[in-house]
Amino acid sequence: MHSNTIHKAAAAATAPSAVSPEELRLINAYTRRELGEDEVYVFSLTLCDNDVDRDGERFSVESLFALEKLFVGKTGIFDHDPSAKNQAARIFACEVVHDPARKTAMGDAYFSLKARAYMPKTEENRALREMIDGGILKEVSVGCAVAHTLCSICGQEYITCTHRKGEVYGGKLCCGELTNPTDAYEWSFVAVPAQKQAGVTKAKRKEKSMEDILKSLESKKGAPLSGADCEKLLGYINELKQAAKDGVFYRESLTSEVLRLSAAVQPDISRDTMACMTKAMSIAQLKEVKTAFEKQKSKEFAPVPQLYGGSAKKNTESNGQFTI
Ligand SMILES: [Zn+2]
Repeated sequence: MHSNTIHKAAAAATAPSAVSPEELRLINAYTRRELGEDEVYVFSLTLCDNDVDRDGERFSVESLFALEKLFVGKTGIFDHDPSAKNQAARIFACEVVHDPARKTAMGDAYFSLKARAYMPKTEENRALREMIDGGILKEVSVGCAVAHTLCSICGQEYITCTHRKGEVYGGKLCCGELTNPTDAYEWSFVAVPAQKQAGVTKAKRKEKSMEDILKSLESKKGAPLSGADCEKLLGYINELKQAAKDGVFYRESLTSEVLRLSAAVQPDISRDTMACMTKAMSIAQLKEVKTAFEKQKSKEFAPVPQLYGGSAKKNTESNGQFTI
């Protein structure tokens, strides 16, 4: 969102949210050219909260405070279309807000992460602005990365414990607590049919971790995988395939090393017998044997002082015989 894409809005059909001089100062930190208050469209949105979502997860309050910092400056796009450059908005301020009138499903104090975002008023984003004003763009989806998803019952990593999200243990609801956010990605508007209340409202969608995807596959009762989850899963499988290929390659080269060394230091054991033995060995055992053979070889074929002429000659012969 740079000033080279800014066109003066002809006639903005809707009045923007009032922008304070302080907000204008924050906005202008992102623009190449100083924008006047009539040139920017500013709106509020809720990015996420500490209530349990439809995936049976919630952000901890500490996570909201971490995200408060991470989301400032992040751009939002319309329907995940990054090519719609003129239809992007940028968050310029975030604030964690406590709502004393509301409790979470877990029964504790409710906090949400509110953001203020702006877009320069242009002809291209006029329809988008009208949709926000008209309440047609109600949902915002956000993406972020968290280091841990902890079980609300036992505090262990959710992936490692036996509790299940959505179930109640001793009167306490199990959910995944999303903690230690490490990054916030772009956020996007999701078009949904107009509803009663106008304005941009809240929905959060955080990226599922691979552990979560695998866990929901294993339990066979997790939420169905979204397109993005499937894509992520396929990417993971491809990574594993590559890792497996590398592993096979590594094992093969280790085995041929061992066979080569064996011929040198254990000439009485046939290659076939040795090959048979290596098949039953683990990678660690192959490495162990290789190291032992190498040691043996370097000892056996160390340069021998001329004094022991006879054995030196013998070694040279065997050396010649087995050098590959
Ligand atoms: Zn647990």
